[in-house]
Amino acid sequence: MFLLEGVSKRFGAAQALHPLDLSLPKGATTVLIGPSGCGKSTLLRLLNGLLRPDTGRVLFDGQPLPEDGDALLAVRQRVGYALQGGGLFPHLTGARNVTLMARHLRWPEARIRERLARLMDLTRFPAEALERLPGELSGGQRQRVALMRALMLDPDVLLLDEPLGALDPLVRHDLQTDLRGIFERLGKTVVLVTHDLAEAAFLGDGIVLMREGQVVQQGTLDDLEARPKDPFVTRFIQAQRPLPLRRPG
Ligand code: ADP
Ligand code: MG
Repeated sequence: MFLLEGVSKRFGAAQALHPLDLSLPKGATTVLIGPSGCGKSTLLRLLNGLLRPDTGRVLFDGQPLPEDGDALLAVRQRVGYALQGGGLFPHLTGARNVTLMARHLRWPEARIRERLARLMDLTRFPAEALERLPGELSGGQRQRVALMRALMLDPDVLLLDEPLGALDPLVRHDLQTDLRGIFERLGKTVVLVTHDLAEAAFLGDGIVLMREGQVVQQGTLDDLEARPKDPFVTRFIQAQRPLPLRRPG
């Protein structure tokens, strides 16, 4: 679905991404993982043209991403995006946040209501919370609103930047289970960012492990464990071992 050829990105002195090649398959969930600052969010924003690469090119469905203008807007409507932290407008209700783009595109009210009802069902979002502002929602509800907003136009692709960040363990567990079910039901191409390896293995068909603006290895968790391409892969996996619940001795 996405093909990156020699794509790099620099912000001032910071080389956020070194030139990299990457292929992200259609209809599958790919998880981008790696330490903070390794370029995960940058990579995601290159996929929907919010950022332009300094070198190389991004192909979407076989075509280079348009530079700008209507052609790029048309692509963006096929690529739902939930940014890190949700990115909800604080002065708009949950419902308004979700339906913003559909209203901008002048969807008829009945179609908007129907789509919203579908999404609330899909994400198990309570109707009574729809008219609340983001600041009046729980963390898990805010993430569900961000997910509904990304799905509103029924895109082919879903880009989710740490959709489960900053949630308490119980809420996180519920949302992980729900997300996996949603991905299975929808069968869309999903690219999701996390820094939790267990979550990556649970949600992803494939994992892309990054470090300092480079892709270290792409594969399943089994591939990474059994055939690490770099000592960093093994270190990263070992660093994610859970602590024992009881202190030894
Ligand atoms: P991650 O999502 O993996 O934590 P990012 O893609 O956000 O990493 O950032 C990668 C690097 O690029 C970091 O060093 C970050 O500080 C830098 N960076 C990202 N966005 C910007 C920006 N808009 N301006 C300047 N530096 C940026
Ligand atoms: Mg990030």
